[in-house]
Amino acid sequence: MPSVRDSAALGTPRLLRSLVVTAAVAASTLLPGAVAAADEPAGTSVTGRLVHAVAEAHPDEAAGHEGHGHAGDGAVAWVQPAAGDAVRVDPAAMADLPTGATVEVTLGSGTEGSDDEDEALEVLEKDVVALPVATPVLRDPAGLTNRVTVVLVRPAGVAADGVTEAQIVDTVNGPVADFWSRQSNGAVQLGVTRSHGWTATTAGCADAGALWNEVAATVGFAAGDGNHLLVYVSGAAPGCAYALAEVGTTTGTGGRLYVQTTSSSAIVHELGHNFGLGHSSAEQCDGAVEGSGCRTVGYRDLYDVMGVSRSLMGSLTVPQAARIGLLPAAQIQALTVQDAVTTTTLAPLSGTTGTRALRLTDAAGSVYWLEYRTATGQDGWLGTDADRHRLETGVLLRRAGTLPDTSVLLDATPGPASAWETDFQAALPVGVAVPVSGGAFTVVVQGVSPAGAVLTVTPTSTAGAAPAAPQPPPLSRGAR
Ligand SMILES: [Zn+2]
Repeated sequence: MPSVRDSAALGTPRLLRSLVVTAAVAASTLLPGAVAAADEPAGTSVTGRLVHAVAEAHPDEAAGHEGHGHAGDGAVAWVQPAAGDAVRVDPAAMADLPTGATVEVTLGSGTEGSDDEDEALEVLEKDVVALPVATPVLRDPAGLTNRVTVVLVRPAGVAADGVTEAQIVDTVNGPVADFWSRQSNGAVQLGVTRSHGWTATTAGCADAGALWNEVAATVGFAAGDGNHLLVYVSGAAPGCAYALAEVGTTTGTGGRLYVQTTSSSAIVHELGHNFGLGHSSAEQCDGAVEGSGCRTVGYRDLYDVMGVSRSLMGSLTVPQAARIGLLPAAQIQALTVQDAVTTTTLAPLSGTTGTRALRLTDAAGSVYWLEYRTATGQDGWLGTDADRHRLETGVLLRRAGTLPDTSVLLDATPGPASAWETDFQAALPVGVAVPVSGGAFTVVVQGVSPAGAVLTVTPTSTAGAAPAAPQPPPLSRGAR
């Protein structure tokens, strides 16, 4: 595969390293006398606002990136106290808490198993002081739900590059706004309300929070619901991620983001993080749909703009769309292991009507999603020359996850581990029983047509992780 490279060759760790310098600096400021995170005395507490963010790998490198134990996956988290510098913390430890929550964390040393002095601090204990207030998505008088302030920035005073203010503004108001409007059926209306040409900062890319704070103060950006600060970073600036964004909780959260690219799909993707989405990733297991011997690869769902769909920008996967309320409840059919055998028809995902998602919840609460992708609308590129990885149309199976991989594509035609690198074909074959959640459900695609895919789902309430043991049949009970 031309775009898949060995993980050792990836740029992500290098990019992240430039970001994590912030952590050591912040921690040493907060904790006097310390020079490196790894040297911090355990047990120090800090209270502040939790911020999740994601630093992006370049798309040429992203899909081949193996997320071994989720190390180096681009997830970043910090706690911003009311006064003083932010403290970088282990993002995995905070993944179940939303951005914007006020938290009190007890810090350990660097994360387990790392001797990297730039590593984020381990979290020994965490308490939620206050959850973020859920705010409704409101339209302003101009009809916008999301207002974007665009600023072209020369971090640490580096030179400008050839990008113009109008270029970024037009990209946001054009393809970026169009995408989110279509995916939300008109509910998300974003546009640029203010823009600023090349602006020098003292802060560099090593500390994204400081960079955003400085830019916000300079241009008078008001953080708040539905307000986004989009910084375009000069290509001359060293040590920047390809892009970086705060992870919000809803389409109304607002947030800050920067890009070092003019790619519309990158800006769409970063705004997706502001809206509360993580990545569309993939899990591959050795000859099995799920089980042991698996790997999760960040961004490897190439159907979706939260994975690496590049300029193709396919429809949001159903776990992603549902996560932020873009999928109408009436278009979701939900089943649990207690339900009866069910046959249903899934309408094409790229349409706007019918049942577009089937949600299966197993006994342990894990949530699986089925959708039907056709080469129509937003997904019209499937099967064309642009579909370089020969992605399939048909019914796709995904598992919902936590940050950074909030949507995980499962392979319904799993091959051996030796074939993983070139295997991007994941659709459910017609007429084949596919186990979901280790057999808690069995899904058979009966047939597909342009109008829809007919599926039969057989829940098995006694399979999988069901907590209650099945009652023995009367005969065996009597035989005891
Ligand atoms: Zn991302």
